[in-house]
Amino acid sequence: MTKRVLRFISLCTAAVLLSAVNSSCKGGTEYKSYAFYSMDTIIEVKLDPATPDIDRVFDGCRALTEEVRQILDADSSSSAVSLFNASEGGCAVPELLAELCTLSRGVYTASGGAFDITLRPLIRLWKDSEAAGVLPGTTAVSDVLALRGMDGLTYDGTTGVLSKGEGVGIDLGGIGKGAAAEKLLEYLGSSGAGYGVISLGGNIALYGAKPDGEAFSVSLRDPAGRGTVGDLSLTGGFVSVSGDYERYYEIDGKKYHHIFDPDTGYPAASGLHSVAVISGNGAEADALSTALFVMGYGEGMKLYESGGYDFEAVFITDGEIMLTPGLTDRFTLTSGAYTVK
Ligand code: AMP
Ligand code: MG
Repeated sequence: MTKRVLRFISLCTAAVLLSAVNSSCKGGTEYKSYAFYSMDTIIEVKLDPATPDIDRVFDGCRALTEEVRQILDADSSSSAVSLFNASEGGCAVPELLAELCTLSRGVYTASGGAFDITLRPLIRLWKDSEAAGVLPGTTAVSDVLALRGMDGLTYDGTTGVLSKGEGVGIDLGGIGKGAAAEKLLEYLGSSGAGYGVISLGGNIALYGAKPDGEAFSVSLRDPAGRGTVGDLSLTGGFVSVSGDYERYYEIDGKKYHHIFDPDTGYPAASGLHSVAVISGNGAEADALSTALFVMGYGEGMKLYESGGYDFEAVFITDGEIMLTPGLTDRFTLTSGAYTVK
């Protein structure tokens, strides 16, 4: 099947899901759910069915997600990120974008540059290469990598202007869905919902307390496509997963996953197939999962142990799963194809 046909089918699926509202019961907990397409993924909001005026809350979730997308979507020419990328030397940016740049700078420094929102020129090169059907050459890659690094960005808190060097461009794909998850969780706080779960393409937000008093159970996908590897038992907060199976560029029949090693300009090859980060901060969980995926287990554990960020993580390699100490009692292995190290 061609890629175009596949894309058509996935768009149809998205159209069917758009505005779909369902009731479901998972592990004895009742949910009413609503799904829509935004931020290049299908977003599902599952809420306590007793939520007052629940359809208005679902609409509110959708409107809020669209607001975030209109700021961060690098592929929409009218977004704040695109206007910034197209500007000469920078421009005034919305508060959310400024905040995420500051957070990104912190994770950039803590990860030794593994998480880098200035990879837009590299991402453009890969998109163009996919369209041309030719793998990007080493010279083209090093040319665009010369434009990367947070030194190319400066924010002035007084004027609200984000400045950039010539040719510098930003892409917040590694932090945007987590930031949206955080906004949505905040919004649920004023909705009257008792509990809920929001899922945005690899980012999950857990809200409130279930009526049975039990923790939420979050299943982690097997990166090799054999269902799930295990379940996390969590009482709230955010889970963000970065994996090599999620999105990819297809060039000459070969798949290249979407998370780049900023040092090489090619897909990160740290030995990990996926990383899940659990945190009380959605944007941080998202940025850190991307960072750890690039850094690999050893360097990732150093970041964890440095204590600069409060999070826990699950690292998944070919057949092994490694957990940070805070998760040993909260993870249950369900796949025979993996061992917990
Ligand atoms: P995630 O799925 O959250 O790990 O984010 C992956 C997305 O972040 C990609 O699709 C790119 O838009 C962007 N990205 C790719 N590599 C990096 C990186 N090393 N640092 C920051 N963002 C990246
Ligand atoms: Mg991320």
